[in-house]
Amino acid sequence: MNPKILIIGACGQIGSELTHKLRSIHGKENVIASDISYNNLDVVNSGVFEILDAQDYTSVKICIDKHRINTVYLMAAMLSATGEKYPMKAWNLNMDSLFHVLNLAKEGFIKKLFWPSSIAVFGPTTPKENTPQYTIMEPSTVYGMTKQVGERWCEYYNKQYNVDVRSVRYPGIISWKTMPGGGTTDYAVEIYHKAIEDNKYECFLTKETELPMMFMDDAIKATIDIMDAKPETLKIRSSYNLSAISFTPEDITESIQKHLPDFKISYKPDFRQKIADTWPNSIDDSRAREDWNWKHSFSLDDITKEMLTNLKQLKEETA
Ligand code: NAD
Repeated sequence: MNPKILIIGACGQIGSELTHKLRSIHGKENVIASDISYNNLDVVNSGVFEILDAQDYTSVKICIDKHRINTVYLMAAMLSATGEKYPMKAWNLNMDSLFHVLNLAKEGFIKKLFWPSSIAVFGPTTPKENTPQYTIMEPSTVYGMTKQVGERWCEYYNKQYNVDVRSVRYPGIISWKTMPGGGTTDYAVEIYHKAIEDNKYECFLTKETELPMMFMDDAIKATIDIMDAKPETLKIRSSYNLSAISFTPEDITESIQKHLPDFKISYKPDFRQKIADTWPNSIDDSRAREDWNWKHSFSLDDITKEMLTNLKQLKEETA
C-alpha cells in the first residue's frame, strides 16, 4: 500500500517535524497536513494544508475522502499542564478526536493509524525506576487519564475490529524548531532558549526532578519505525513504552555549562511540580526494542549541542 497520509494537529511541536519528515520520504503530494489553525507557516506553506477540527467527525471524514487518505497520524491533543487548567476541554478534545479516527478505521476509511500516548499514563503508585510495560497505572491528571483510556480503546478496536492502530508512550520531547504546547516537560526546551537569550533560566521544577526525555529526531524515528513495522511483529496494541534518556534540571544545567560556563539556573517550582512528581524517573522500553528494533541515538550532551548550535544560528539569522 502506498501511503496517502493525513496528519491531524500538524502545526504542533511533534506534528510539524513529522510533517516535514514524512513529506521528504513520501513526497509532499502524499502527505496532507491539517490543524485547527494556521499556527505554523512552515508547515502551511510546505505542501497541501487543510484547516480541520479533529473534534468534527464529518469534516475529518470528508477530508479523508477528498484526499483518498489511507494512513492517519493523530497528533492533536491538549497536553498535561494546559489540561489541568481546562479539564473538560482536555477530556473532550483528546477522546473525541481519538474515537473519530478509530471509528473511521473500523468503517474501513483508514487502513493504518498512529496515535501517541505518553508517560503521563503512569501515576504516583507506579514504580518510578525503570517503569515496566505492564504495571500499576493510576494517572492523576486529566491528560494522563485520556491517554490511559485511549490506550484501552486502541487495543479494543484492534482486537474487536482488526483496526491497525499503533502507539508509543512518548517521554518529554526536546526540539528547537517549534515551541512545546503546554506540557510538564516543557522546561527542557525553554531552558535552551533562555540560555541563548539571557544566559539564565528560572525552572518550574526542582533541581532533582528526574524525568524521561527524548530528542525530537529520535521521537520522529520511533514514530516512523513503528508505522513501518510488519503488523504481526507488533504484539502490543495499547501503547509501547519508549525511552531514550532520563535527567534532572541539574543535569541539563551541567550539560549547558560545558558550552556556556556562566549559565545560571534558579528554581521556582509551580503546579507542574506536582504533576512531575507522579511520573516515572526512567522507563523500561525493552518490548519496543525487541518487537520492532527501537533504538535511540541522542544522549543529553548530543541534545545540548544540537539545541544550542541551532538556536544560536536561528538567533543570528533573525537578528
Ligand atoms: P502540541 O500542543 O504542540 O500540538 C498539538 C496541535 O494540535 C497544535 O498545533 C494545535 O493547534 C492542534 N489542535 C488542537 N486542537 C485541535 C483540534 N480540535 N483539531 C485539530 N488540531 C487541533 O502537541 P505535541 O507536543 O506536538 O504533541 C503531539 C502528540 O504527542 C499529542 O497527542 C501529545 O499528547 C503527545 N505527546 C507529546 C509529548 C511532548 O513532549 N511534546 C510527550 C508525550 C506525548
